[in-house]
Amino acid sequence: MTQEELNERLDYWQGVLRLRDWDIVARLVSAHEMEAGDEGQVDPRPELKEANIKILNWEGYGGTVFRPLDSEQILLHEMLHLFFIVFETEADTPQRLAEEQAVHLIAQALVALDRRTKEPDAPSDPLL
Ligand SMILES: [Zn+2]
Repeated sequence: MTQEELNERLDYWQGVLRLRDWDIVARLVSAHEMEAGDEGQVDPRPELKEANIKILNWEGYGGTVFRPLDSEQILLHEMLHLFFIVFETEADTPQRLAEEQAVHLIAQALVALDRRTKEPDAPSDPLL
């Protein structure tokens, strides 16, 4: 995915998720700009309704990834975290784990549904 495609997907999902009142910037970054092991990060400032999102540019990444990364799904994952800020979950708690799982599954489902709508003849995702 190019930075241009990322910007287009960000704009699209901001509309779908009703996040137009947020000023969100998303950037593709190399691994050294990312905390070890992370595929995406969101740095929100809810009081200003601003967020910076970093997405690992894994196509130029020399390390090993658990499986090929889907940059759009990672973008959506980081955007969905914005809805959970109010719950103030803390790192390394069962609540944060539940948040991560919810955000992961919702992002996966939305991306799969969106692609199925655009390409009705494409083989459907076995998860849906
Ligand atoms: Zn997350």
